[in-house]
Amino acid sequence: MTPCPHFIGGEWVAAGAATTPVYNPSTGEVIAQCPVGGAAEINAAVAAAAAALPAWRETPPVERARLFFRYRQLVEQNFDRLCQSVTREHGKTLAEARGSVYRGIENIEYACGIPSLLFGDNLENLARGVDCETILQPLGVCAGITPFNFPAMVPLWMFPNALACGNTFILKASEKVPLTAVLLVELLAQAGLPKGVLNLVHGGRESVDTLLTHPQVRAISFVGSSPVAKYIYETGTRHGKRVQANGGAKNYIVIMPDADVPKTVEALSTAAFGCAGERCMAGSTALTVGAAAERLLPSLVAAARAIKVGPTDRAAQPDMGPVITAQHRDRVAGLVASGEKDGAKVICDGREIRVPDAPRGFYFGATIVDHVQAEMTLAREEVFGPVLNVMRMEDLDGAIAMANRSAFGNGAAIFTRSGSAAREFKHRVKAGMVGINVGVPATMAMFPFTGWDDSFYGDLHIQGRESIQFYTQQKVVTTRWFGGEVGDVWKK
Ligand code: NAD
Repeated sequence: MTPCPHFIGGEWVAAGAATTPVYNPSTGEVIAQCPVGGAAEINAAVAAAAAALPAWRETPPVERARLFFRYRQLVEQNFDRLCQSVTREHGKTLAEARGSVYRGIENIEYACGIPSLLFGDNLENLARGVDCETILQPLGVCAGITPFNFPAMVPLWMFPNALACGNTFILKASEKVPLTAVLLVELLAQAGLPKGVLNLVHGGRESVDTLLTHPQVRAISFVGSSPVAKYIYETGTRHGKRVQANGGAKNYIVIMPDADVPKTVEALSTAAFGCAGERCMAGSTALTVGAAAERLLPSLVAAARAIKVGPTDRAAQPDMGPVITAQHRDRVAGLVASGEKDGAKVICDGREIRVPDAPRGFYFGATIVDHVQAEMTLAREEVFGPVLNVMRMEDLDGAIAMANRSAFGNGAAIFTRSGSAAREFKHRVKAGMVGINVGVPATMAMFPFTGWDDSFYGDLHIQGRESIQFYTQQKVVTTRWFGGEVGDVWKK
């Protein structure tokens, strides 16, 4: 069993009696026990973060940046270890794990630029002899609550920028994938993190509720499903906290009849089945316009059938790994069955997949469901598995209207050779991140991760400049010095 301690005030604290199992989804084995931390651990972590705050906020931004330069180096040196940990507890292929850890590293690199990112504005002579400037100051103790699907990347969306801005932080990682978070924190401690500046507390709802209501916690970053995101936003803001809460998604990909078939099939297949569909930016619904379905579907089905599914924790790598738990696999199967019952047609069926190498793993094969209709549960709910819905549309207007009916608004994409169709789509589609001939337009560290509607609750998004605004408060200083008075030695 891999140890899974909390990290509070610079000390590793072993798990108590209450734990939940952490699985290797490739084999179904229990690989660790995640402690169920509660109010006592969170209170200790908040106290440690509050005690560390005065010295940390006074540490010059260039020195804080140096910590992150050292951290980047250590993460790079431990890259394979981190990727193996992501693969082992989450089930991503090693290639997917590498991509996700790199996305995390880019966030560390962004935080290295903190001296420039914290620049304020100023205006001389606002009135005669009066100058004005803005200063960005840290908020205080902040916290982050993360989901299972990106064990390294999502925590790295949060604590590097939060700490670089001069805050102290408590990370509550997903209890399904806590081991990569332990590694990330261990490496930051090695880089020279002062005690208490970053704390890691494991657990579930009790830990989260303690953070949401704790008077010393000033801000909460959350990434997870929409019902929990909404709860976090409502509870956190009711307790006076700044909250950014990313939720779930249902992302539409419009395929116009003029789309390049091989390139679109390749992009769509990665968008729908990459990371076994467990991505908030998965392309989970193809809206085929006119003849696009007939042109595309035969090759798409062939590509989906060719996807090799298997264990990701060994040298020979499959194209797609397992989903996170047996329970989640059964939920995905249930949603596909509900679509079938409602009249949709399963044209590529991954439900019966068998993996003889790893018979107890949580596998679900690539699945395509055609003729999905808007009112079906399968069309409305986030599936979060390797399932692509196909909805047939008459024209672009219909496709945009269909995408815009969704309660979510994370991402959307269009595949076409027509500039005017792409321009129309970009202008009218209701989604925060849009791809044009790009399947999964998840934004990089320097751009905000801009979900809309039920995909995001809050005002300032994760990543980029908005993240710096989120983790700081602005002070506007207006200054006038009276000339010619006692003490003005420069004036006769
Ligand atoms: P989840 O909502 O079940 O859990 C997320 C976190 O919240 C975990 O740390 C968990 O311990 C905690 N939590 C769960 N239930 C809670 C409750 N009732 N009260 C308080 N805390 C609770 O999400 P998940 O299954 O771990 O992750 C998958 C979801 O995350 C998907 O919906 C996916 O779309 C979403 N996601 C969104 C983004 C984005 O940027 N929009 C990115 C990644 C994942």
